[in-house]
Amino acid sequence: MAFQDWMKEANLIGGAWVGADGGATIDVTNPADGSVIGTIPKGGTAETDRAIAAATEAFPGFRDMSLMERCNLLWKLHDALMDNQKDLAELLTVEMGKPMAESMGEIAIGAQYVRWFAEEARRAKGEIVPAGVNGRRILVTKHAIGVVGMITPWNFPSSMLARKVAPALAVGCTVVAKPATATPYSGLAWGALCEEVGYPKGVMNVVTGSAREISKAMMESAAVRKITFTGSTEVGKELIRGSADTVKKVSMELGGNAPFVVFDDADLEKAVEGAMVSKFRNAGQTCVCANRIYVQSGIHDAFVARLKEKTEALKVGDGREDGVEQGPMIDMDAVEKVEEFVADAKEKGGEIVTGGGRHGNGGTFFEPTIMTGATQAMKFATEEIFGPLAPVFKFETEEEAIAMANDTVYGLACYAYTSDLARAFRLNEGLAYGMIGINSGLITTVEAPFGGVKESGLGKEGGSQGLEDYLETKYVCIDGI
Ligand code: NAP
Repeated sequence: MAFQDWMKEANLIGGAWVGADGGATIDVTNPADGSVIGTIPKGGTAETDRAIAAATEAFPGFRDMSLMERCNLLWKLHDALMDNQKDLAELLTVEMGKPMAESMGEIAIGAQYVRWFAEEARRAKGEIVPAGVNGRRILVTKHAIGVVGMITPWNFPSSMLARKVAPALAVGCTVVAKPATATPYSGLAWGALCEEVGYPKGVMNVVTGSAREISKAMMESAAVRKITFTGSTEVGKELIRGSADTVKKVSMELGGNAPFVVFDDADLEKAVEGAMVSKFRNAGQTCVCANRIYVQSGIHDAFVARLKEKTEALKVGDGREDGVEQGPMIDMDAVEKVEEFVADAKEKGGEIVTGGGRHGNGGTFFEPTIMTGATQAMKFATEEIFGPLAPVFKFETEEEAIAMANDTVYGLACYAYTSDLARAFRLNEGLAYGMIGINSGLITTVEAPFGGVKESGLGKEGGSQGLEDYLETKYVCIDGI
């Protein structure tokens, strides 16, 4: 097979691959060269309503399928992902731009989520709680929540769906998914994979097109009992508001503004390695990317010098070329946004150490960039950069570092490098973030609850908590015993 075999140019609704009513389509481009790679249906309200109806019809049968049958389907889904890892990864790179090595990793971690939730589903236990009076029994039981609407972003077009689809299917929920318009094929491929391994018709539906119409149809439907979203905080807030009228459960994986704090007592080499992976992975376009690098004054210059060496060695190019470590940015708007951050910081006294502008490859390629002399007055102190720009701030004391790190509405991931155990505990307690990497710049793993606090979100993906988000709890009181 080749990646084209997974590139579905239609929507999956009730087990049928269909176009939009009236046949409208949207072009999809490869960000590495701007070429059109295919089209997708421009679906909207009517198509989404049909997908919701199909998911609603499929729900009772799927919910009542035996647990082992549902787990076996997930195991098959895991194997289908891994058997087709290279083709699915190439499809991801072609539509999104990230290097092949990262795409291979994304498909693999998606498969790991599927396996994890196949295992966790067997432990979705209830409780028997001691009653306060004689003659009563209190049972607490767990149930699939129902039809789930899923909306995902372009930066991890496969794994962001994996973390939602796997727990939903594990407990017996049915799905209506809307992938990002820039990178729809990896999302549509989840439909094709589910079909291939034998999920009943209507369990997995994928609709592409107008974000506003599709999300509105999901929010207004009383049948959709949960909305799970990964994307910007701005859109997340709209979805929370829109879900209020039908009182849906919501899970929100939103924006970040991760501080990366390096203390004088850190292992320099480890800290630089961590900063490289946290900052430049996916060309800086991840929600957990180091957005602000705070370095204590005693190690500042050595850290910047080593970071510069490593940054200048990064190979930038088409993600499908051998050895490429940084691909293009998703589109020209993203490039212009990074340029604005650079201009604002320069105006306020920031200095470019390396990079600073568009890359010689042209298009949406941007140079891996480091700036020093960053301050809290610069735009990137409060806004998400989402690009390959590493601003370095200098600090003196631990208290100052914690205060600056927490000075944001976001609270997704943060990182700190230190060899002082007592300090590590103080940081865990003092940093207002949902995820904290101590001496590690790469912390995502299926066993742990991924998610933010403050305006970075609600709910968790992964870990046992990631399953809980697709279940509702019932209490049964049995009296007269
Ligand atoms: P986005 O603009 O919020 O888009 C995400 C999804 O929402 C896409 O499918 C998009 O559809 C849809 N959408 C856009 N406008 C909408 C609206 N008004 N109503 C309903 N849906 C709408 O975010 P993005 O630019 O794709 O992704 C980057 C953001 O995601 C960053 O802020 C990043 O931090 C965050 N993120 C968070 C996590 C996490 O786990 N916390 C992980 C990855 C990314 P279209 O594509 O059709 O516009």
